[in-house]
Amino acid sequence: MTKIARFRSPAYQGFGLIEGETIFELESLFSTTRGSAHALAEVSLLAACAPSKIVCVGRNYREHAKELGNEVTAEPLIFLKPPSSLLAHEGSIVYPAISGNVHYEGELGVIIGPRPARRVPAAEAGNYIFGYTCVNDVTARDLQRKDGQWTRGKGFDTFCPVGPWIVRREDVRFDDLRVRTLLDGEVKQDASVLDMIFPLGAIIAFVTEFMTLEPGDLIATGTPAGVGPLQAGSMVSVEIDGIGVLRNRVVAAQQAAATL
Ligand code: MG
Repeated sequence: MTKIARFRSPAYQGFGLIEGETIFELESLFSTTRGSAHALAEVSLLAACAPSKIVCVGRNYREHAKELGNEVTAEPLIFLKPPSSLLAHEGSIVYPAISGNVHYEGELGVIIGPRPARRVPAAEAGNYIFGYTCVNDVTARDLQRKDGQWTRGKGFDTFCPVGPWIVRREDVRFDDLRVRTLLDGEVKQDASVLDMIFPLGAIIAFVTEFMTLEPGDLIATGTPAGVGPLQAGSMVSVEIDGIGVLRNRVVAAQQAAATL
């Protein structure tokens, strides 16, 4: 299985290929030529991708739409998170002082590539999927509801943990994937990706009809039922067997500021 991460060492920052306990520098996400080797234990993983945009699907699992009292939409419900919200595996989710209801949303992440995707028919969408990762679409639910549009509620710095790495599409048995979210060790979400209302082909066709997806862009494909609140001190993990475990601690905003 090929695992591609982004990492930082004292002398390097960029993509890398993980093999066992070693990570090799890569010139780009799509490069197959290994550069210098580093001990995995001695580098810091960064957010697994560096997208030009993060495209998200809302209400893509029936039971989740129902739990928040929403109707299922006739077409995919699309919104964006800013790249400034990206966070690495084991980075801290900062609980904003201006929200009192921050939720986890475990999701399958799709990485576009190696070609740009524009007006892609659903049946050809697989050719534009480079790989998969785990995403937590962290959401200030109170601000999302109050604002009507979702930019603020979804867009805080640290509200998009992604990783710990990307697994190439060829190495994944898609039909077997389950998205599981654990809060302080307790399973809160657990659903098959086959329960998505709009499958990946339909999402990519819908999005690329109006927007070019660039190589490296990230799609968060929607969250299953079981969303719920985080607290400062919570440990949340999004786990997808065959991909990885994305783990993040929540810290209060004041505490985060004090440790900068
Ligand atoms: Mg979501």
